[in-house]
Amino acid sequence: MQITGDMLIGGHAVRGSNPPLLAFNPSTGEDIATPAFGAGNADDVALACELAAAAFDPYRKLPLATRAAFLERIAYGIAALGDALTERAQMETGLPKARLEGERGRTVAQLKLFAQEVRQGLWLTATLDSALPDRKPLPRSDLRLQKIAVGPVAVFGASNFPLAFSVAGGDTAAALAAGCPVVVKAHGAHLGTSEMVGRVIQQAVKAMGLPEGVFSLIVGAGHTVGEALVAHPAIKAVGFTGSRAGGTALMRIAAQRPEPIPVYAEMSSINPVFLLPQALAARAAAIAQGFVDSLVLGAGQFCTNPGLAIAIDSPALAQFVDTATATLAGKPAQTMLTACIHAAYEEGAQRLAQTPGVNALAHGQAESGPNQACAALFVTDAPTFLAQPALEDEVFGPASTLVRCKDEAQLLAVAEHFAGQLTATIQMDNDDLPVAQRLVTILERKAGRLLVNGFPTGVEVTHAMVHGGPFPATSDSRATSVGTSAIERFLRPVCYQDFPAGLLPEALADGNPLELWRRKNGELVRG
Ligand code: NAP
Repeated sequence: MQITGDMLIGGHAVRGSNPPLLAFNPSTGEDIATPAFGAGNADDVALACELAAAAFDPYRKLPLATRAAFLERIAYGIAALGDALTERAQMETGLPKARLEGERGRTVAQLKLFAQEVRQGLWLTATLDSALPDRKPLPRSDLRLQKIAVGPVAVFGASNFPLAFSVAGGDTAAALAAGCPVVVKAHGAHLGTSEMVGRVIQQAVKAMGLPEGVFSLIVGAGHTVGEALVAHPAIKAVGFTGSRAGGTALMRIAAQRPEPIPVYAEMSSINPVFLLPQALAARAAAIAQGFVDSLVLGAGQFCTNPGLAIAIDSPALAQFVDTATATLAGKPAQTMLTACIHAAYEEGAQRLAQTPGVNALAHGQAESGPNQACAALFVTDAPTFLAQPALEDEVFGPASTLVRCKDEAQLLAVAEHFAGQLTATIQMDNDDLPVAQRLVTILERKAGRLLVNGFPTGVEVTHAMVHGGPFPATSDSRATSVGTSAIERFLRPVCYQDFPAGLLPEALADGNPLELWRRKNGELVRG
C-alpha cells in the first residue's frame, strides 16, 4: 500500500493545506523525508464531522450482523497488510518488531471480539416492563428500554500504541461497535502507520456500501485540529489516550461547548506495587526480577508501567534491592517513541533525582543511540513521599521509586495518600492476608484493576477487563477503555413508552426476533 500523506475524509483522500508534517524515525533521530503529510485545518475537521453526522442514522440502523461484518472486514484488512504495516510502525516508533506483531494481533483480535459483542447484543440492555392496565390507583404504561449510539465520536490516536490504541484501536472499535461514526486524529508519532490503517477502514466502508462519513482520518499539529474536533457540534463523545495536560485541555473544551459532551481520557497513572513482608521473605529475588522486567517493558512506555513500589523495611527488602539493582544493571537502554517523550522522560527522571529525600538506587545501561532511555530506580521513605505531591506524578518511561515504610501503618498511609490509578498490585503470601485485606479496602477506591502476585503491564482484552480508574488515571472512573465494556462509553439508554408494534425497535419487539437475552418484567429471558 502506498502512503501518500493525504488525510482520509469520508471516501476521499484530501491533501491538507496547512504546513506539512514529516514522520520521524526515533531510532536514527532523523525525519522520514517522504511523503510529507499535509496537515488539515478547521474546515477539514468540519467536513469530516458533517459527513459523520450524515452517516450516523444509516450506520446505527444497520442490522447488527452487517455492523459486525464491517468490524471483521477491518480486522482482516489490517492482518492482510502483513509486514509492510509492522515495518512502517517500527520505523516510526522504534518499537521492536515482535512487540508490533503482537500489537497487530491484539488489534485484529480486538476488532473481532467487538464484532462478536455486536452480534450477541447484550450491550443493547433490552428491557421490557409490561403494561399494567388494571393497576390501582393508576395503570402502568408498557415501557421498553434499549441503548443506542450517542453519535459521532472523536478518537485521538495514542503515541504508545500505534496500532492497538490508534486509528483502528480500542476506542475506534468500541465506538464503531456501538453504532457511532468515528473521526480519528492521527498521532504525529506514527503518521504513515495511521494512514495505512485508515485506508483499510476507508476501503471496508466502501466495500460494504456504508455511508462514507462512517470514518475519517485527520492530520494536524499544534492542537488546532484536535481543538476544532472536540468543539465541533456534530461530535458527541471523545476517546483520548495521552498526557494529563492534553486530556484535561480536551475536557475543558468539551465542557465549555454549548452542548457539553463526555471526554473519556486515559491520562496518567503510576501503578503502585505493594511488596508485603511474607512475600518478600519467601521470594524477594523473584519479585525483584519480575518488577524490573515489568518496569523496562517497552521502554516503560505503558500506561500500566509500575512507577512505584512500597514495602516495609526488612532484610528481605534489602535482598529485593540487591536483586533489582543487579537486574536493572543488565537492562539495555531502549529507544523511546518520540524526541518529546524522550525529553520529558529525561526531565522527569532528573526531577526525581533532585527531589530532597530521594536517592538514586540503581540504573540500567547507558544510552547508545538517539532518544534512548536509561532505566532508573529511586528510593525514598514514606514521610518524604507523603510530604511531596510531585512524587506521585507520572514519569512516562522506565523510572520507578521504592518507598520504604517503617511499619504497616506507614504502608497503609501511603496507600491512602494516592490519587486515582489504572492498577494497584499486591505481592503477598498467605500470612500477609490481614494487611492485604486492609489494603484492598483502600485500593478498591483508588484503582480500576487490582492484581495479586503479578505485575501491572500486560492488559488483556476480554469481557472482564477494566482499564480505567479515578482521576487522574482517567477522566471518568465509571468507564473502561479496554475490553468489551468499553462500548458502554458510546451508548445511552432510550425508553419507548406505549409504542405500537410497527414502531418498536427490533430489539424490543414482541416475539424477540433477534433472539436476544432480554430483561422482561425483571427476569432475564431469551423468549
Ligand atoms: P499528548 O501530548 O497528550 O498528545 C496526544 C494527542 O492529543 C495528540 O494528537 C495531540 O495533538 C493532542 N493534544 C494534546 N494536547 C492537546 C490540546 N491541548 N488540544 C488539542 N489537542 C491536544 O500525548 P503524547 O504526545 O502521546 O505524549 C506526551 C506525554 O503524554 C508523554 O510524555 C506521557 O507523559 C503522556 N502519555 C501517557 C500515556 C498513558 O497512557 N498514561 C500514554 C501516552 C502518553 P497535537 O499533535 O496537535 O498536539
